Amino acid sequence: MAKIAINIATGSLQQQEIIVGIDLGTTNSLVAIIHPETKMPIALKEHNSSSLVPSVVHFDAYGNVTVGEAAKNFLLTEPQNTIFSAKRLMGKSYNDIKENTSFFSYKVIDDNTQSLVKVQVGNKFYSPVDLSSFILKELKQRAEHILKTPVNKAVITVPAYFNDAQRQATRDAGKLAGLDVLRIVNEPTAASLAYGLGLHKEEEKTIAVYDLGGGTFDISILKISNGIFEVLSTNGDTYLGGDDIDNSIVKYWLQQAGISEDELKANKEFAQAIRLKAEAAKIHLSNNDHFEGMLNGDKLIITKETLQALIQPMVDKTIASCINALKDAGLKPKDINVVVMVGGSTRVPLVKESISKFFGRPVNDTVNPDEIVALGAAIQADILAGNNKEVLLLDITPLSLGIETMGGLMDVMIPRNSKIPNKASRQYTTYKDGQSGMKISVFQGERDMVKDNRKLAEFNLTGIPGMPAGLPKVEVSFLINADGILVVKAKELRSGVEQTIEVKAQQDLSDEELEKMLLDSITHAKEDIATRALVEARTEGEQLLETTEKFIQKNAAHLTKEELMETAAAMQALQLSITMEDKDLIHTKVETLNDISRPFAERIMDQAISTAMKGKAV
Ligand code: ADP
Ligand code: MG
Repeated sequence: MAKIAINIATGSLQQQEIIVGIDLGTTNSLVAIIHPETKMPIALKEHNSSSLVPSVVHFDAYGNVTVGEAAKNFLLTEPQNTIFSAKRLMGKSYNDIKENTSFFSYKVIDDNTQSLVKVQVGNKFYSPVDLSSFILKELKQRAEHILKTPVNKAVITVPAYFNDAQRQATRDAGKLAGLDVLRIVNEPTAASLAYGLGLHKEEEKTIAVYDLGGGTFDISILKISNGIFEVLSTNGDTYLGGDDIDNSIVKYWLQQAGISEDELKANKEFAQAIRLKAEAAKIHLSNNDHFEGMLNGDKLIITKETLQALIQPMVDKTIASCINALKDAGLKPKDINVVVMVGGSTRVPLVKESISKFFGRPVNDTVNPDEIVALGAAIQADILAGNNKEVLLLDITPLSLGIETMGGLMDVMIPRNSKIPNKASRQYTTYKDGQSGMKISVFQGERDMVKDNRKLAEFNLTGIPGMPAGLPKVEVSFLINADGILVVKAKELRSGVEQTIEVKAQQDLSDEELEKMLLDSITHAKEDIATRALVEARTEGEQLLETTEKFIQKNAAHLTKEELMETAAAMQALQLSITMEDKDLIHTKVETLNDISRPFAERIMDQAISTAMKGKAV
């Protein structure tokens, strides 16, 4: 059922359900869409406010949840009830984070160190998935409020280094927030898409994505070719970002004023205020040379030069990471074709200049670095929605695609994880004499027997001219085009008869189903191999029975009584073995029958040839 919603803002009918792109960041999160009229990606924001939603969740004494700017205000005054950087906990156990517990000013549960972490607020426990879901719910509501339409589908970004558990946790958070997560996309990939990279089929580029955010630094080296993004390497520092710059400014001001850090800690409100001033100073100095502000009647001053001296060691650290990432990718700085700047902290001129110098080329910095990841996610969402037909679906096949062959076996044409677009073809033949049609059944899945896989389509190739079994050459070809549509074609090559069918390859297959199908294929791998061997043996046996039967009918007159009886007995034994579950037995019986029939088959052939020769006049 297609939903039709009316966009009150534009007054237009929206045939298609909207799919939003979400950057679920450590410090800030935001949501973006492709503007229905301009077709350009835009970050969603209310009038006169920022598109950024601080990734902070506050719980009051009654368990009410606030997310974003309002929650951020409680960071220093109610640290126990105010959760920031939940993203750092995604898919982690206490053991994974125990080195960094001092970073978290809220309570991270440490009694079961192996299992996934939870945080405690009051007498309630929240998993990182719960916390992220609160942020996602806020983003969903924001989007619905701005767009005046329900928002149920999203593409969410994660760092390239996120493992399966962390990606799954992100998906779960989306689901909990009432979002159908159509795709998890790597942040550097999204950032590249926002610059239009990867949107042209022929394009081949090596891209460095430098992402300096609020609390983390990531460098990713990507290779793009044929519309496929490949992560060559990642590196970075999970505790390095704009917050460290703010802290260094605070320290500098405290030194200037002769205030100790203990004094600062004792006065939470002052600490909060001076930190905010430091951030304001930093941002001001990205475009000016001099900052002057007032706090409690005291003047706070810092120059761009001083700030640069404070930042230099951090920049050097990020360059060391870049060197390592390049090394892991087996590349030199000059091998990089494009450098993409991501994260609010790349607005610092010193950062931009240093990175540009390191890679020996100008950096791409025209797209807003706070929004770029969400904008790229929106582009990906639009591609998934099928609105951007010129663009490749940057995807791989989630499950193998194949057809049913004799005995109900799955014959894989395009294996799972193949890049798309893709094509494959194979030749088959008929099984019976004079067979005029051939049923082509298309399946998706990893199991050896088609009955355990998912049927996508079925069609008949009809009108094959009468020929003996084995003579027709039917070429079956699979083509997955850039839109993810599978086209299956069957053609009998001798006669040219052909038939084509279009299949939506990933028709409403949910993640759970996908996962179950993959799991099943692993669990049943052993028995599948055994079944396949048995089915193949049976097919071989049946084919031999059929040809022997035909041979006997035609040539009975040329055979001795003994030969006929011996053959009949061997056929019967083979027939019986086929009904049993023992492939070795079938093989033995096939061999016996072959051994018996071979000599007289050869004899009759020789006779036929000599008769033919005799008849010919020379
Ligand atoms: P994350 O990806 O970790 O969620 P963001 O990309 O949103 O983080 O970056 C947030 C950081 O960017 C903050 O530390 C903020 O102070 C910093 N930032 C934003 N604007 C500027 C600016 N003009 N100059 C320097 N830093 C900035
Ligand atoms: Mg980010």
